[in-house]
Amino acid sequence: MAVPKRKVSKARRDRRRSNVWKLEMPGMTKCPKCGEYNLSHRVCKACGYYDGKQIIKVED
Ligand SMILES: [Zn+2]
Repeated sequence: MAVPKRKVSKARRDRRRSNVWKLEMPGMTKCPKCGEYNLSHRVCKACGYYDGKQIIKVED
């Protein structure tokens, strides 16, 4: 899908970036407990919670 740079208008380029460029990496979610970004379907490594329960003990 490579297109010569000059063929893509500023409007089109900027619209693409506004939609696709996300703050979050793929597979990353914000922990509902502490707000840290973590891999989804994994225990949060910042607070040790998963599915509303504390799974592992994390010291501050
Ligand atoms: Zn957390």
